[in-house]
Amino acid sequence: MTSVYDQYEIVIGLEIHAQLTTKSKLFSGSSTEFGADPNTQTCPVDLGMPGVLPVLNTAAVDAAIKTGLALRAEVNKESVFARKNYFYPDLPKGYQISQFDKPIIGKGTLTIDLEDGTSRDIGVTRLHLEEDAGKSVHDFGADNVSHVDLNRAGIPLMEIVSEPDMRTPEEAGAYVRKMRAIVRFLGVCDGNMEQGSMRCDANVSVRKKGTTEFGTRTETKNLNSARNIQRAIAYEAMRQIDILEEGGEIVQETRLWDAQKNVTRSMRGKENAHDYRYFPCPDLLPVRFDDARIERNKQEMPELPDALKERFMNDYGLSAYDASVLSSSRATSDYYDAVVAGGKRDAKIAANWIMVELFGALNKQGKDIEESPVSPENMGKMLDLIADGTISGKIAKTVFEEMFDNGKDPEAVVEEKGLKQISDEGAIEKIIDDIIAANPKQVEQIKNGNDKLIGWFVGQTMQATKGKANPGIVNKLLNAKLRS
Ligand code: ADP
Ligand code: MG
Repeated sequence: MTSVYDQYEIVIGLEIHAQLTTKSKLFSGSSTEFGADPNTQTCPVDLGMPGVLPVLNTAAVDAAIKTGLALRAEVNKESVFARKNYFYPDLPKGYQISQFDKPIIGKGTLTIDLEDGTSRDIGVTRLHLEEDAGKSVHDFGADNVSHVDLNRAGIPLMEIVSEPDMRTPEEAGAYVRKMRAIVRFLGVCDGNMEQGSMRCDANVSVRKKGTTEFGTRTETKNLNSARNIQRAIAYEAMRQIDILEEGGEIVQETRLWDAQKNVTRSMRGKENAHDYRYFPCPDLLPVRFDDARIERNKQEMPELPDALKERFMNDYGLSAYDASVLSSSRATSDYYDAVVAGGKRDAKIAANWIMVELFGALNKQGKDIEESPVSPENMGKMLDLIADGTISGKIAKTVFEEMFDNGKDPEAVVEEKGLKQISDEGAIEKIIDDIIAANPKQVEQIKNGNDKLIGWFVGQTMQATKGKANPGIVNKLLNAKLRS
C-alpha cells in the first residue's frame, strides 16, 4: 500500500555552526576555555566598548583554510568581514561580525557515507567565519531577573552552509556525522554537539515527486545530535505534507525542535537577509593571504576519513560500510590500524570484533573508544589466540568479556579460567564415544537418514567439554563415526 507521504520528496539543506578550538577569541585575546564563571573571560572588545578595535585571530583563518581544503572547496585569498545588525541583549555591539558576500571559503563538496555502503556527494555552498554572541541566562535567582554571560561573545565560529542536496533524513544524519568527523580529524573543532560546540539548523521543504520547483522551507534550530536532526526532519516533512494535503500553505519560518515531545514548534517568522543591513565592517581590513599559506595548511593536514576509507578498502579488503565506520574518528582508525598491525592479522576478522563486540560493549557503558578497557594490543593478542587454535571463536567471547570487565591480558584469562581449546583428537574421540554409547536412539535416527541430529551430537560434545573442544575436530570425528 502506498501512502500519501510516498508521493513527496523531501529537500534538505543544513547550516552547521562549528566552534573553533582556538585558545583565544576571534577578535580579542580573551580565553575561550569552557566552563568559566560568567563574564570572567571578557575584555572591552568582547563587551563592545566604544573606541576599541577588533584584531583578527589568524589561527581561525588557518582553521577555515584547512576545513575548506578538506571540503575540496574554493579557498578565497581575499574575503571580507561584514556587520550583521540586529538587537539582542546578549549582543553588546548591536551587530555580529560575520562574512556576507565575500566568505573565506566558496563552493565545495562533502562525500557522505550511507548505511548500505553507498556514497553521495553533497554540495557545500560556502563556509564563513563569524563571532558567537553571548548567552542570556534565565534561571532566575533571588533577584528574579535574567542575566547575560558574555564569555561566549566573540568565540570564533565557522558557519558551513550546504546546498539543498539532501533528500532523506538519513542523508542529513550522514552529512552531519561526516562533517563532524572531518573537523575533529583536522582538530579545528571538538565536534561536541551536546555541549554546543557544533550546532545544526535544518532547512526542510517538500515537493511532489517528479516536480522540479522547490517548496517553501522552514528552518529548525536547536538540534544537538545527528539522531535528533533525523527525527526533526522526518517530523517536519510529515507536518508539511499534512498541511499541503489539506490544501494549506507552508509558512516560511524558524522552528524549534522539542526533543521531549518529538515535535517542531514555531519560534518566529523568518527574517529576510536584508533585515540585517549587512555592510563591510569598517574596523577590519579584508582578509588576504597567498598560496604559500594555503600550501602550508595543506602540509599540516592529517590523513582524512575519505582517504582512510579508501586505504582500508584497498589494503584490507573491507566493505565500504565497514571502512567508513572504522574511519569515522581518528581514535577508531588508530585502534583498528594497531589491531591489524600493518596487515599481520586478518583484517576482516579484526574489523568484525571491533565493530560488533567492542563497540557493543562500549555502547552499553556509554564509553568512547578512547576509554576502551581492552587495548588494541590485547585485542590483537586475542585474535592471535583464535588464529593459532588456542581458543575457539566462541570461547573468545568469554575471554573478551573478561578482558573488557577487568582490563586483563587474554593469555592470562585463558590460563586462569582454563579456557584452552581441546585439540587432542584422542581425548575428544573418547568423549564422543561415551556420548554415542549413551544415546543409541539418536544414533539409530541418523542411520535412518535424520542427518540434522549430528548437530545435536556436536552440541552434546561441546557441553561435555564446556565449549572447549575444537569445533573442527568435533565435526570431523562425528561425521566419520555417524554418517555411513
Ligand atoms: P538564510 O540565510 O535565510 O538562512 P540561505 O540562502 O543561506 O538562507 O539558505 C539556508 C539553507 O537553506 C541552505 O542550506 C540551503 O541549502 C537551504 N535551502 C534553500 N532553499 C531550500 C528549500 N526550498 N528547501 C530546503 N532547503 C533549502
Ligand atoms: Mg541561515
